[in-house]
Amino acid sequence: MGDLLELTKELIRKPSITPNDAGCMDLIILRLKKLGFSIELFPAGAAQNLWARFGTQKPLVCFLGHTDVVPTGPIDKWTSPPFSPEIRDGYLYGRGACDMKAGVAAIIVAIENYVRNNPTSNGSIAVLLSSSEEGDSSIGTPVVVAALEKRHEKIDYCITAEPSSDKCLGDIIRNGRRGSLNAKLIIYGKQGHVAFPHNADNAIHKSLAVLHELVIKKWDNGHTNFPETKLQISNIQAGTGANNVIPGELQCEFNFRFSPSVTVDELKKCVAKILEQHKLNYKIDWQLSGEPFFTAPGKLTQTAIQVIQDELGITPELSTGGGTSDARFIAPTGAQVIELGVSNQTAHQIDERVKVDDLEKLVLVYEKILEQLL
Ligand SMILES: [Zn+2]
Repeated sequence: MGDLLELTKELIRKPSITPNDAGCMDLIILRLKKLGFSIELFPAGAAQNLWARFGTQKPLVCFLGHTDVVPTGPIDKWTSPPFSPEIRDGYLYGRGACDMKAGVAAIIVAIENYVRNNPTSNGSIAVLLSSSEEGDSSIGTPVVVAALEKRHEKIDYCITAEPSSDKCLGDIIRNGRRGSLNAKLIIYGKQGHVAFPHNADNAIHKSLAVLHELVIKKWDNGHTNFPETKLQISNIQAGTGANNVIPGELQCEFNFRFSPSVTVDELKKCVAKILEQHKLNYKIDWQLSGEPFFTAPGKLTQTAIQVIQDELGITPELSTGGGTSDARFIAPTGAQVIELGVSNQTAHQIDERVKVDDLEKLVLVYEKILEQLL
């Protein structure tokens, strides 16, 4: 336990605000090299990415993680400094404690234990780490995935150490994620004096009905394994700040979290149709941040559920809720993918923390999953 806790603390001490790795991977590389892993680095932009592999046989079990963290927010709001790990009341505090330096430390210690106890096992183990998961993911995991695809190196099972759990360790395993699609919409009118509306065209007024229609629309008919597709408006800007000017333009940003029941193209077409029906002069720009993915229950989910039942005495729920993760880049390669890690209740928050007792339990779960899969 001492070593596991120390590794987690050492990682938290490195202020690896995305996309800066801040030396986290050096620590990990040192340990994986000792085990006999081959190490490859794929730097891209300001990010560092690591592919480390042990063994050449199939199946290949890959642990996926990231060393970067989100910014701290106002440091004076933290009870203890975010990059000075501290234990209070059974919790380890620090930025990245739960998302996901505890997970990264658990991966490394679980692999060390497994390799020590099973020096001649079948199959291979890999570790894929990126320092650009929380920000610009294009310089992160996809860079490694592209290199693997190019040389036909296939991951069979991928365990992402994202904090998937909710109330207690292992209560939720994620086996899919909704897609995420962003839109920037500008609706044009004509600026003018509020006293002479006949000479102007109020961009706010013309937007109200169409935005309302977008908000109440049902975008899919549900999916057995996913929550329904939802649109959320995140930002609206219009007006000059003066109270006697009719605004000539309204800018609106919205996001879709969508299930595999609809495609990106269908969503875009449907929005365009609604905008056309309202006869608006508009411009819309789309940005796709992730396609949905889904790993049907199979060997990987079954193994993880069984291990959690045996080791933690609870039965996890398979879920496709929550935000995006780098698992979305691995799933399209044909791998079975799950996210399994500590509780996400304080992820990205001030006073982020992880239950100290969960660290060893997570190591045990990862170790047993390796034993079952290989
Ligand atoms: Zn994360």
